[in-house]
Amino acid sequence: MIDIDYKAKLDEAVLQSDVVKIFDNLLTVAVERGASDIHIEPLENYCRIRIRIDGILEELVQYPKNLHESIISKFKIESGQMRPDEKRVPQDARVSSNTLTNKEIDLRANTLPTVWWECLVMRIVDKSKRIPPLEDLGIEGSNKEIVFRHLKYPNGIILMTGPTGSGKTTTLYACLDYVNKTEVNIITYEDPVENKVMGLNQAQIRSDIGFTFANGLRWWLRQDPDIMMVGEIRDRETLDMAMESAMTGHLVFSTVHTNSSAETITRVYNLWAKPYMVVGTFNVVMAERLIRRVCDHCKVKTSVSDNPKYIFAKESFRNFDKEALKKEILSRGINQQQRNDFINNGLIYTGSGKDPTTGGKCAVCEGSGYKWRIGIFEMMDYTDEIKNMLLDGKSSFEVESVALKKGMINLERDGIFKVIKGKTTLDEVYRYVKAKFEKQ
Ligand SMILES: [Zn+2]
Repeated sequence: MIDIDYKAKLDEAVLQSDVVKIFDNLLTVAVERGASDIHIEPLENYCRIRIRIDGILEELVQYPKNLHESIISKFKIESGQMRPDEKRVPQDARVSSNTLTNKEIDLRANTLPTVWWECLVMRIVDKSKRIPPLEDLGIEGSNKEIVFRHLKYPNGIILMTGPTGSGKTTTLYACLDYVNKTEVNIITYEDPVENKVMGLNQAQIRSDIGFTFANGLRWWLRQDPDIMMVGEIRDRETLDMAMESAMTGHLVFSTVHTNSSAETITRVYNLWAKPYMVVGTFNVVMAERLIRRVCDHCKVKTSVSDNPKYIFAKESFRNFDKEALKKEILSRGINQQQRNDFINNGLIYTGSGKDPTTGGKCAVCEGSGYKWRIGIFEMMDYTDEIKNMLLDGKSSFEVESVALKKGMINLERDGIFKVIKGKTTLDEVYRYVKAKFEKQ
């Protein structure tokens, strides 16, 4: 395996205290293993390097404290954007680099002075990574029907919500790629431009010189657009411009920093949007989280009937319209056996971490029981019923509760369907989704 070689070379570089070789091999190992971040950290008696894979930190190597200063100084000098002699305040830098396997990457790095010296954290943007097709992201059942229906509409707002690292940017690009045709002009305003996509007119926002999201939108109408994407709605001005664009016959994509699609209603009201404006412009609001997939190589059926999370899971379907539930199960291709295993017997798949033939550590997931990640999605479709409730002044909680009864798939429900299909575990679902109980 390509990966093992570079890890061995990294260990060797640490023994030789060869800082250049440490960086080259570290970046290569991290990118080849699909890591999103690298952490170089001093502890009390030694230092360590960890990488984040599928959302979880993993220790790669340890090294003695006397090597740490040269590692940090070397990076600061190479970046050309950090002062090597300044060790008391945080600093940041954006650097382009290449791995030993010839992959082009961008690093967003920052230092933080801690009690044991400075630590350095780097976020990796792998530019060689391609945007997966929208069909491959794991959007299933009624959620799938909702997304593809809304992508055909010529105007309105499609919003994505979720914290950093939730996969929303990838989904947004996949949607843009889906509507990307010669006949339409697509303009994006981004900060930063993370992926360059053929056929899109992508503009880099520069708030430092007055080119803000709101400013970009103002100029945008003069560029004869059909579809536009604004990286993030974080102020009233940007929201106003996005709504105005949607009302004048354009399709607008954007993101908001909220945890759920219902919370988004509260958020836009706080930015002074009136209910009639939301009703007139919103098409669909999606929320997403990336959770770990069960390792297919070592997964085994396990009983979870004693686990409190199993009770939560069953509870989340309590007020689900029976017909809608039947339809959902059918459209997701869940068979009778999978249904019975879960509902009647409390059986789900979990990764054992052990190789099924040898009984030793599973080589595919390195014993963790998980390999790769999968998105769980929530969609609030702005149906006439929801629009009427908003016009009647109903709260986001009331709107959500009605939508859930009608069969809206929220993050929890989508996660549970994926558990039933053996793709992930209840532990993963509830690591990201807080259990909510409807008051009845
Ligand atoms: Zn495994």
